[in-house]
Amino acid sequence: MVAAAPRQSIKVGDIRLTYLPDGETRLNPTAFFPASTEDAWKLHPEWLDGDGQLLCSLGGLLVETGDRRVLIDTGFGPRHAEFPGFGPFDGGRLLQSLSEHGHEPGQIDTVVFTHLHLDHVNASVRREGDGWALAFPRAKFLVRETEWHHWVGKNDPTGMYEETETAIRDRVDLCDADAAVAPGVTLVSTPGHTPGHTSVVIASGTDRAIVLGDVLHCPVQLEEEEWGCVFDVDPVLARATREKMLAELEGSGAVAAGGHFSDFTFGRCMRGEGRRVWSVHRAMAGTG
Ligand SMILES: [Zn+2]
Repeated sequence: MVAAAPRQSIKVGDIRLTYLPDGETRLNPTAFFPASTEDAWKLHPEWLDGDGQLLCSLGGLLVETGDRRVLIDTGFGPRHAEFPGFGPFDGGRLLQSLSEHGHEPGQIDTVVFTHLHLDHVNASVRREGDGWALAFPRAKFLVRETEWHHWVGKNDPTGMYEETETAIRDRVDLCDADAAVAPGVTLVSTPGHTPGHTSVVIASGTDRAIVLGDVLHCPVQLEEEEWGCVFDVDPVLARATREKMLAELEGSGAVAAGGHFSDFTFGRCMRGEGRRVWSVHRAMAGTG
């Protein structure tokens, strides 16, 4: 039975990469992947929960490189939301996950967003009294210029909420597609899911990992390449980006981090028996 991904770390050369859970969502799988059918899902029961729903983890990935502490995406934050036809979203555990990992919010110097969808950006604020405060009081918030301008000022229910925009606006640092974030941490443009969607390459020595963002939502897409997410802003471009990424992962053997994957976040895209398979990378699973 699938479960939301636990807190877990891997080493990429001298860099430590840790998945920090914020919450989870359970989605109607054929609504979320409109190209899929109930019959087709019968071939992939391993990715569904006991109710036949697609369990997606929500959270962020902490990069510890030298004295830098970079958080890639945050999560949905302390909220419960229902999206009719899709399923409930629940967040709010990010700061606890960070604490369990031994870090304070004030140690995060940079937050990088792969994109500004609701489940990636809105845990940038925390509850304070009747209002909201920045969850990471010393961080700058790095976002692609294209992405910021797509969402800012819209209070879009699928994107950056008003309280989040208000809190981070003065600390946003707009950047280009290939920005260097910190030693060994570089952005790479992966558009389609959103206009300024970005993945993050972590490199140290001969080791390399790629934080996918929402290029992939579930390992089922390694086999079902035409299954695109209903929220892809440009489905054709998203599919081209997905195919390019899968070829890159398969060819390079780089570790991938799938922030929405259930059970385990880190793995490799391998080929076996004529199909692509997700090979879980358990190096430091369950450790802090
Ligand atoms: Zn997402």
